[in-house]
This record gives sequence, C-alpha cells and structure tokens, in this order.
Amino acid sequence: MSREQTVQAEPLEAKSPFELRVNRGPVVPELTVKSALETGDVGFLHSFTTGSTVDGPGVRLVGWTAGCQWRCLYCHNPDTWNITNGTPVTLERAVEELGKYRHGLRAMSGGFTLSGGEPLIQGRFAVRLFAAARQMGIHTALDTNGYLGEALTDAELETIDLVLLDIKGWDRERHRRLTGRDVIQTLDFALRLAERKRPVWLRYVLVPGLTDDEEEIANVARFAASLGNVERVEVLPFHQMGRFKWDSLRLNYTLAGVEPPTGEAAERAVDLFRAEGLKAF
Ligand code: SF4
Repeated sequence: MSREQTVQAEPLEAKSPFELRVNRGPVVPELTVKSALETGDVGFLHSFTTGSTVDGPGVRLVGWTAGCQWRCLYCHNPDTWNITNGTPVTLERAVEELGKYRHGLRAMSGGFTLSGGEPLIQGRFAVRLFAAARQMGIHTALDTNGYLGEALTDAELETIDLVLLDIKGWDRERHRRLTGRDVIQTLDFALRLAERKRPVWLRYVLVPGLTDDEEEIANVARFAASLGNVERVEVLPFHQMGRFKWDSLRLNYTLAGVEPPTGEAAERAVDLFRAEGLKAF
C-alpha cells in the first residue's frame, strides 16, 4: 500500500479527546507505520480540538496523538494507547490545517499544543510539525511524560516554546506500579530542560490513595523547585471521565471505586508546591 493510500482517511474535523475513538483510519500495514515513525511524513492523530484554554498559555489548538507506551492506572484516554487507533494524517496536511488557525491563535495569545497519548512516540512528526508552526509564528507546546525526551536533539528542543511535563510520582516503585514504567527518564528529561533553560509547566495528577501522599508530593515539589525553569505547576484532580473507555475497550479498570479528590485535598497538594516557592494552581 502506498503512503497516499494510507492517508486517505476521514476528513480532519475537531473532536473532543473525551470521545472514544478506535480504528479511525484504514488498516495501516506495520511497515508503513514504521516508516512513518522514522520519517515523520505521516502522523497518527486521535483527534484535535480548538479553543482550549487549559493546554498552555492563551487559546490553543491541540493535536491529540495516538500511541503511548505507558499504562497509567488513571489514564482517561486508553483509546490513544495504540498508534493505529489514530487517523493517519500527512505532515503537509497537518501543516496546512495549522496554517488556517495561525492568525486567530496569534490574536488570542495562544498557540499549538501536541498532547496525547504520548506525542514523542511520533517524535519525528512532532518536531517537524513544531518547526513548521514556529515558522508561521505560532507558539508551540508539548505535553509529554518525558520518557522519550532524550531522542530530541538540542536544536529540536529549541522549536518547543513550552514543555508541559507530566511528573506522575517520585518513588520509583510507586511510579512503576502507577504507570508501568520507571520515572528516571522523566526526571532526566526535566534536568536536561533545566540545563537548557527551556520553560516548563509541570503537571501532577492527584489521585486519592495513589498520588496524594504528602511526602511524595513534597519530593516532586522540591525537585521541581530545584530546576529553576518551572514557571507553573498544575495539580490536576483525578476524575472518572475516562472510565467508559476502559469499559468499552474491555480493559481492567482498577479505580472504579476511587472518588475525585476533595477541594481541600487539592488545595493541600497545591500548598506543598507553593511551599517550595513555585507558582501552583
Ligand atoms: S502517559 Fe498519558 S496517555 Fe499514556 S497511559 Fe499515562 S495518562 Fe495515558
């Protein structure tokens, strides 16, 4: 199958990341996926949304990529785990789409954010799209777990105006139980971003019984404060909006009985970050 054949998917239209979306495009052969990942000529998008005010500064266009190597127990988008659940989109097409929004995004002091899934699974596509966005004068942000950050060159890091870095925990064992992966790569990426003075907004998902241990939060806060480039911390309260996706995909959801954190618990977590001198919300 040629590349052209693989990317004649449904038209690109804005969709909510909270919609369950699986098998959106034509069946893409493994070899084509491999070559897309190597070149970045084609990306796999779960959806994209316009008008977001919570994924970076100003009003944002957000591309939600498919593919993630982590398995966070609280993931609200498990339909993004598999890359081929995404719609294949050529880089040219994605750039063209971005171009349509450039004046509006600039006028609203916003920009373009790539989220997921984990966008760096499609690192080549991501950096080429960011470079194109920058050429159009669009502010760029990457929402990432940082695990694959080392694959980006220093020059590529410069095409990303802001990294929304998800730090999901501190204790290695706890992090592994929560995400299936080690936290070290994330922390190393955070250190590298600090060394290169790249702006970071840190995100921490607060889940009762899993990530609300005060010492755990204080450790993340101390680390974040030591970096010197964390402009803002966002404590994101756990919610159950993704539960139906786990059920629909017949995945074993273990947090069915977990309530969202109370307002006081969220405020306590925010205070732990503020106690280290960070701007936290
Ligand atoms: S890193 Fe994000 S997309 Fe991946 S499993 Fe965790 S929450 Fe889900």
